[in-house]
Amino acid sequence: MSKQIPEMLESFSQLVAAPSVSSTDPQWDQSNRVVVDLLAGWLEDIGFKVEVMPVPVEPGSSSSEEKFNLIACLDGGRGQGEGGLVLSGHTDTVPFSADSWHQDPFKLTEKEGRIHGLGICDMKSFFPIVMEVAQQLNVREMQQPLYVLATADEESTMSGARALAAYGKSLGRHALIGEPTGLMPVYMHKGILMESIKIKGQAGHSSDPALGNSALEGMHSVISAILQWREELQKQFQDERFFVPEPTINLGTIHGGDNPNRICADCELTLDLRLLPEMELDRIRTDLRTLVSEAIAGSGLSVEYESVFDGIPGFETDKNAEVIQIAEKLSGRESGTVAFGTEGPYLNAMGMDTVILGPGDIDQAHQANEYLSLDRIPPMLEILTNMVGHFCVRSD
Ligand SMILES: [Zn+2]
Repeated sequence: MSKQIPEMLESFSQLVAAPSVSSTDPQWDQSNRVVVDLLAGWLEDIGFKVEVMPVPVEPGSSSSEEKFNLIACLDGGRGQGEGGLVLSGHTDTVPFSADSWHQDPFKLTEKEGRIHGLGICDMKSFFPIVMEVAQQLNVREMQQPLYVLATADEESTMSGARALAAYGKSLGRHALIGEPTGLMPVYMHKGILMESIKIKGQAGHSSDPALGNSALEGMHSVISAILQWREELQKQFQDERFFVPEPTINLGTIHGGDNPNRICADCELTLDLRLLPEMELDRIRTDLRTLVSEAIAGSGLSVEYESVFDGIPGFETDKNAEVIQIAEKLSGRESGTVAFGTEGPYLNAMGMDTVILGPGDIDQAHQANEYLSLDRIPPMLEILTNMVGHFCVRSD
């Protein structure tokens, strides 16, 4: 074990002990202020200029918690270069069920070469690793700035990343997000939509269909139309670079009716759509709603639409971009794709070329007893040290 690891363990445990659950359920949602304050203090101590940016409350949000992004810059006194590297992570965690944990989720616990704690893999451990790398830098040799970004609400609404994109400040040209990819560079992921469709009809006695209007039967037509649309989309859009090459639509839940002898008055369907990066979220959402409205047209049923969350755009960085090429070289792995969403599309929209590469494994994220293997830390330190060296220190 290198001598830096015990120091990092102390920082890991302070971050794990600082609760920062984000959730669209206000009963779970918490401010991320404690995590941001810890990071701000540590980054200032090692020479970063730190800005803490309040994230505006999103319209329709039922949470009253205050959220913050942190933007920290180390520039060696040479000002804001055009190149520069951004190392980015999110400060929040998902909710947890304490009963399924073998130990206190907020107490970092080391066992058999692994450290357990809520958010350790996804992705609080990234920040102390970044700070360890930054500390070893000879600031006088820096040619381009190094930024550290720590965002709010990645696990719930992405409001932190959206606020950052809207903020309009240009940061570095290249970015790395330390989400759990098992040290594999990732250049692409699908976009995600989750939508709810509520059909409203009229209840009545089952013995006479004329007494009501069945929302459930209306939903039957809606589901048929969605499945047919799915087939068309899967013919139209294909990308063999993904493990599942076509867009997918999963009918996740359906709730309707209350008794066999009553005509069903209300029926709700929720679905999850995983879209190729070229498929625009708003366009697909509009197409879905048009199709549903057409499926029940003339039936006398009404429909309400709601998005379960705003959706995450698909993400793609050119595989030939310098940041992807360097990440491949430093990790010794070819870049690939993942099945989960990240803040990558927002950073790309800010003019950065972004690679996703982090030490944890996604299989351990969002799980009870979440952990990071300690043997992932030295290679991550080395990758980041060389990456910062390449983008911030070398002058060419
Ligand atoms: Zn994450």
